[in-house]
Amino acid sequence: MRFFGALGAIHRIGWRMAARIPFGARRYCCMCESRVRRFLPYRRGLASVPPLMRQLAVVGSDVEHFECPACQSHDRERHLLLYLTAANLLSCMNAARILHFAPETHLQRFIRKTGPAEYVLADLFPASPTVQKMDLQAIPYSANYFDFVLANHVLEHVQDDAQALREIFRVLRPGGNAILQTPYASGLTNTFEDPSIRTELACLHAYGQEDHRRLFGKDFKRRVEECGLRRATASHAALLPHVDVAYMGVNPEEPFFLFQKPLTI
Ligand SMILES: [Zn+2]
Repeated sequence: MRFFGALGAIHRIGWRMAARIPFGARRYCCMCESRVRRFLPYRRGLASVPPLMRQLAVVGSDVEHFECPACQSHDRERHLLLYLTAANLLSCMNAARILHFAPETHLQRFIRKTGPAEYVLADLFPASPTVQKMDLQAIPYSANYFDFVLANHVLEHVQDDAQALREIFRVLRPGGNAILQTPYASGLTNTFEDPSIRTELACLHAYGQEDHRRLFGKDFKRRVEECGLRRATASHAALLPHVDVAYMGVNPEEPFFLFQKPLTI
């Protein structure tokens, strides 16, 4: 069986068959459905990762297989598309109200195709007129408004992540879903942040990137739960057991950080 790779192909032939990748196959981007020779690294790949981040076993982007040379999608965007599909969440977006913070260009296309009732694109620093200027710490919508909130690699950037999480909880309807991907240090028990760490270089070495405000630790899920959301997280192995991670250019260590607002509070 020849492997065509795309999500469409996965739907057609099933996850089990999709795992049968012929020897010598090139890489495949599920975003643009292109076969590519390789995925490009982030900056200089592992050589660009600060030593402390390596020591603390930070789980985030696959910096060696980061960008699709055809569509410029990032590995975390490709991974999220696979997760949303495997968890049947894309199909739940039809007729839904969706808030997508720091919206990834390619993912927008897949979400829009589902036919949401309302699809709000938001960013603190919008780069496009289609994106509304919005602070995640003060979301200008009424309580229980959205069915979905997506914030992929955002919480590590905001000044007050607890306030942002309380706002996400407030605007989600009971039973609504929050997708909150973020890098975290699997070798760090507690999230590390110190407001006196301000310079870009200090943030790079302490948190892993110049504009990060904290380094989440293994307590990330607990911190989210403290704001009222309930964890529905899953590992790559549980949700995508038959996906060839090298072929698809995704990081198998990155979990799916899905949370839900309880139906009764
Ligand atoms: Zn691509």
